[in-house]
Amino acid sequence: MSKRDYYEVLGVSRDVDDKELKKAYRRLAMQNHPDRNPDDAEAEARFKEAAEAYEVLSDAQKRARYDRFGHEGVRGAAGPGAGFHSMDDIFSQFGDIFGDMFGFGGGGRRSRGGPQRGSDLREDLKLSFKEAAFGTSKTISVVRHVDCETCSGSGARPGTEPVTCSTCQGRGQINHSQGFFTLTSTCPHCQGSGKRIEDPCGDCRGSGKQRSTREVSVTIPAGVDTGMRLRLSGEGEAGSRGGPPGDLYVFIHVEPSEVFERDNEHLHLRQPISFVQAILGAEIEIPTLENNETITVKAGTQYGDTLVLKNQGLARVQGSGRGNLVVHFAVEIPSKVSSKERELLEGYAEAQGIPVKKGGFFNKLKDKIG
Ligand SMILES: [Zn+2]
Ligand SMILES: [Zn+2]
Repeated sequence: MSKRDYYEVLGVSRDVDDKELKKAYRRLAMQNHPDRNPDDAEAEARFKEAAEAYEVLSDAQKRARYDRFGHEGVRGAAGPGAGFHSMDDIFSQFGDIFGDMFGFGGGGRRSRGGPQRGSDLREDLKLSFKEAAFGTSKTISVVRHVDCETCSGSGARPGTEPVTCSTCQGRGQINHSQGFFTLTSTCPHCQGSGKRIEDPCGDCRGSGKQRSTREVSVTIPAGVDTGMRLRLSGEGEAGSRGGPPGDLYVFIHVEPSEVFERDNEHLHLRQPISFVQAILGAEIEIPTLENNETITVKAGTQYGDTLVLKNQGLARVQGSGRGNLVVHFAVEIPSKVSSKERELLEGYAEAQGIPVKKGGFFNKLKDKIG
């Protein structure tokens, strides 16, 4: 079957500008829209043909190739046919054009009657610092909406049936004329289901759904941090009419550590040391993630000097290995010294020729006594 000329399909001249092109396409798309022509294969074919023509002519490069080489010029990966295997492809690509005409938020098409994926669910999960550091497994209770057992999800009292909505005659949508256009929106009386329940089920009050709590076990990988989320595929709300279930997103909140400061996969430790240890050096014990470890404070350590312990930080959730543990030395100066200590320090000051304020009460007393 030979293809019709794209300009002919859209009923426009070869020098049409973008604005006129879009207008022509909108007009055709509206006329042949599947929601207005249910089960009309010819309308659907025209709808697809128009979308294909518009896809090429609205793209300057494709249009130039088409003008020079015809259909041959736009065949293949970049050309039409690649993109439009289904109506949904058209809606996802040109949805913005339909969006303002049909009242479909975001350009989508309501899949009336067809399978619908269940909604995603969100649960928040609080973890202690240790749990996050080493990974754990948790059981969380997830509340989902499942078909009411009493009415098997119909929402109607057992023994009765939902009736066709009289407002929309079962279409689920209603049309309003607004000037030149006809706008379509979801029927407010049946929320798009096309059915109404006259005698609602007593257990679900007509919703057809009941709450059910399910325990879901979640494996938490080592190294997770606040703000991360885990996706549990298929653990969300059940789909309807045979659609797949949604996903469950577990949002992680990690309590801060009392010992370490966290910086992604790295840990920081503020380690106080005496000024004497800073001057003379020392072996000290510090806390690490797993246990305690002895490290060496080098002689002459200054306030704020750091020691990096490689691979003693947290596991990288994405990627491999661990971060580092960075020890920050906080040199502490005693606020009080005994007279004995004072004597020693004064001796040091004297040896260094450093002028210092001499003597406390006892020293003065000692000086007087001689
Ligand atoms: Zn209705
Ligand atoms: Zn029920």
